[in-house]
Amino acid sequence: MGNCLVGYIERFWKLNFSFDSKGSKRLLWLAISVLALLSELLFHNNLRALPEAFHAQYVTVFYNVKSIFIGDLPENIGFLLIAAAVGRSVFSTSVGVLDLIFYKKITGRNFNYEAMVTIAIVNLIFLLTLIFSIMNPFVLNYLGYYSKILESIPTLINLNGIVALLVACLIGDFCFYWSHRWCHKIRFFWALGHVNHHRTQNLTQLTQAVDPQSLLLDTAGGKVFVLLLLPLVTKLFSLDVISSGWALLVIIIFDAWTDPSHSVVLYYAEKKIKLLGVFRSFLVTPAVHYTHHSREEAHNVSDGCNFAARFTLWDRLFGTYVEPPTTPPETGLFHEETDYCLNPVRFILHPYAKMFIELKSNKIMYWPAILFGSTSYDPPNSSGLHY
Ligand SMILES: [Zn+2]
Ligand SMILES: [Zn+2]
Repeated sequence: MGNCLVGYIERFWKLNFSFDSKGSKRLLWLAISVLALLSELLFHNNLRALPEAFHAQYVTVFYNVKSIFIGDLPENIGFLLIAAAVGRSVFSTSVGVLDLIFYKKITGRNFNYEAMVTIAIVNLIFLLTLIFSIMNPFVLNYLGYYSKILESIPTLINLNGIVALLVACLIGDFCFYWSHRWCHKIRFFWALGHVNHHRTQNLTQLTQAVDPQSLLLDTAGGKVFVLLLLPLVTKLFSLDVISSGWALLVIIIFDAWTDPSHSVVLYYAEKKIKLLGVFRSFLVTPAVHYTHHSREEAHNVSDGCNFAARFTLWDRLFGTYVEPPTTPPETGLFHEETDYCLNPVRFILHPYAKMFIELKSNKIMYWPAILFGSTSYDPPNSSGLHY
């Protein structure tokens, strides 16, 4: 039974998804691709947020700022906020479909159907892992303990209105910047999680993978910085963003535009419409994050570039900002012999297999560097697998 399972995994490991099949196989691929497309639109491009937005009691204004209770707002702003949240959902989904249609026209390269199918399956598995992790009593206990610590932290400075909103967004983005940069710099966080988000050639809104490894590993990784530090710092300030009124609406509109940050269509629009490019002086526009996924050496400033999620301020300040090139760069990993893992089993197991073989084939004295060293470190005995 065990050997049988290993045999299946080995067979699947070697399989490469290919859309170029003939006859009935081609039909099967077409059907699988349509399912993958729907799944990605539902789970990854916010289509599922549409009914939520219609019945909204809470709206998340900015990706890392707490949700706003609609009932607390003046009626006209509350209504417009819900309308903007619905618009954000529809916009994000449309951008995904447009990417599929115009990818070849914009980049001259073929749309990566194989990656779309692989990543749709991987993202579904990640979603199940997420649900399982959240239901785990150990995690629930840990979260309960953490919120008790938060309650005991005193509020030192009271901020409200637009200042509070800006501070919350800037602090959130500062945390994201450093957690993201560490995810690229430290082997443990890169090799067991974040590498997956970058393991896509021909990147689009429909071919982007979340870090699909276990949520706990991911939380132990860079995200811990965001999850733990952000609420801690925002607790020291009291952030009353409700009173920022119309600024909430402006922020949600910017968020709708900058959130589909893996889109070639938005990249193209930004390069064609000069006015949109002006926003790059302070906002992480889609072209800025798309350049973060580049595999071109010129964009490899510090194991990557453009690490922030919403403001270019942090990258400019810490010397990692790169101006997006005129056309979308080639995306993927910097290594020449990269395995892009065009099947979900290899996609999910590859990072663990690489780490396991490295630990097994090297002496214990090398283990700390293998686990927590820099991502540029190669152990004496290589695993033979490339990122
Ligand atoms: Zn990254
Ligand atoms: Zn990304």
